[in-house]
Order: sequence, then C-alpha cells, then structure tokens
Amino acid sequence: MAQANGIIMDGKVVRDALLAGLKDRIDAAGGPGITLATVLVGDDAPSRTYVGSKHKQAQSVGMKSVGVDMPATATQAEVESAVKKLVDDATVHGILVQIPLPAHLNEEAVLDLIPAVKDVDGLTTASLGRLVRGLDGHVGCTPLGVMRLLEYYGITTSGKRAVVVGRSTLVGYPLSILLARKGIDCTVTLAHSRTPNLAAVCREADILISATGMARSITAEFVRPGACVIDVGISRTESGIVGDVDFDSVKDIASAITPMPGGTGVMTVACLLENTLSAARMQGVAV
Ligand code: NDP
Repeated sequence: MAQANGIIMDGKVVRDALLAGLKDRIDAAGGPGITLATVLVGDDAPSRTYVGSKHKQAQSVGMKSVGVDMPATATQAEVESAVKKLVDDATVHGILVQIPLPAHLNEEAVLDLIPAVKDVDGLTTASLGRLVRGLDGHVGCTPLGVMRLLEYYGITTSGKRAVVVGRSTLVGYPLSILLARKGIDCTVTLAHSRTPNLAAVCREADILISATGMARSITAEFVRPGACVIDVGISRTESGIVGDVDFDSVKDIASAITPMPGGTGVMTVACLLENTLSAARMQGVAV
C-alpha cells in the first residue's frame, strides 16, 4: 500500500468490512435465499470479468446469483423479454443489466423496465428520481461506495465544501445529490468540462471528488492543504491503471486520499450486494 502524510482510504479494508457485515446478517437470518440476477449481452471481456466478480462475491456472502448470458446479436425485443422475465420472477430480488450494452440496443429502455425496488444498480429513471426526492430506493454503486468510504474513515461532511468533478448520471450527478442531502450537509459544487479555472474551484474543496477519466489531471495545485481527495476515475495506460488524481503530488498535502487502484473501484460490488440485501428486505425477506 502506498505511503502518504494523511490517511490512505483503503477500499479493500472498507469492502471487506461491508461484505463481512452482509454475510453476518444473512447468516443470522438463516440464509434466506436472496437472489441477484445479472444480464450480460455480448462478449466484452471487461464486462464478463465484472459480472463474474459480482457472482463470486454474491455467493461469498451467502446470496444466490443467476446469470442470463445473451449473444452480441441479441435484439432489443429479446433483451427486454429476458429482463421482463426477471422482473416477474418473485424469487429474484435484484436485477443488474451490465452496461454498456452493444451499441444497437436502447440501454435506457432496457434499464427502465426494472422497477425501482429491484434496481440494485440504481441507474433507472425511477431510481434517480427517488434519489432526488429523498425517497427509499437504491443508490448507484459507485456513489454509494464513495459515501461508505467517507463514513468508514470518519470524514466530517456537515458544513464542508465538496467539489465533484464530472456530472454523469452514473457517478458525479448522484454523488452531488447525496453529498447535499440533509444529514450529510455538504455545500456542493458540481464541476465539468466547461468549468472555467477548475484548479481554483477545486482548491475551495474540503472534500474533492474527481470522476472524469482524465488521467492524473488533479495535481497538487488543485488541492487545498488538508482536503480529503477521492479518486473515482479509471484510465488504462501502458503503465497500468491510473486515476484522475496525480497521487504522488497530492498525497502529502491531502488529509485523506484514496489510492487508484485499491480505492473506490473495489467498493462497487460490495455496494451492489448491500443494495441487493436491502432490495430483498423491501420485498419482504426477513434479513
Ligand atoms: P463520463 O464520460 O460519462 O463523464 C465524465 C465527466 O467528466 C463529464 O461530466 C465531463 O464533463 C467531465 N470531464 C471530462 N473532461 C473534463 C475536464 N477536462 N475537466 C473537467 N471535467 C471533465 O464518465 P463516467 O462518469 O461514466 O466515468 C468517469 C470516470 O470514472 C471514468 O474514468 C470511469 O472509468 C470511472 N469510473 C470508475 C468507477 C469506479 O468504481 N471507481 C465506476 C464508474 C466509472 P461534460 O459533462 O462537460 O462532458
């Protein structure tokens, strides 16, 4: 693990604690048969690896998992029919459609077939609407993972300035809503590619979160001394996986920082399983 003057926010430690807590709850309930279903369309190798890891970790905490595997040539009607079957199956508590879907498919139309209660990826229009309204539902796994890291390391949020760089519906947008929620109480700035003088905006942050995919773009000049810096970006380079944050220049001025890899990325599947357990509870499973 990398060294720094501040705290290294180790995603593996937080993930393991989260998974152990889920396993304890499932064991204590006598293994109530919580089921996660995945839908994978096509042969994309990283997608196949992610889905494989979701099944493995689900089983490791005592959940069941079922996988629907479809060819890259599957039609919109075929994929929609597979999803509808899972929606109607009372033994399936959570549904995850692995994205991106092949380009000929309408991803939003497929995702929006999943009712909010089974949408354990938190990506449907209904789930995002519930998030904005502050209603019960499932929050996207990456934003949820960031919140779990902040909680685990006792980062104070109330009254703090948070800057989120990146405004996708997958990461930045929902994260900005979570950070501004009552009880979390950050004052949030949501920055993006049209934000002028990004470094100065970022330097206002007590909590700086970058989710752009711009490798090592957040350098020391973007960081206020003592800030907490969370790196969500993932760029695959010749020298391996690199984050948005230039870890070496930032680590000694941040009070807390996530490494990449080993920070936010490893939290995602554990958060998916947290959502699956809460989906099962919402559907009447005593757990
Ligand atoms: P998107 O491409 O959907 O969004 C990127 C965002 O970054 C956009 O809002 C874009 O602004 C903004 N942006 C791009 N360039 C700049 C710039 N130079 N300055 C400021 N803002 C900029 O990506 P995602 O949100 O899906 O993913 C972001 C990153 O997070 C990727 O590297 C992805 O691989 C990674 N990721 C990591 C996960 C994890 O578990 N750690 C999970 C999911 C994603 P604009 O809107 O103006 O175009």
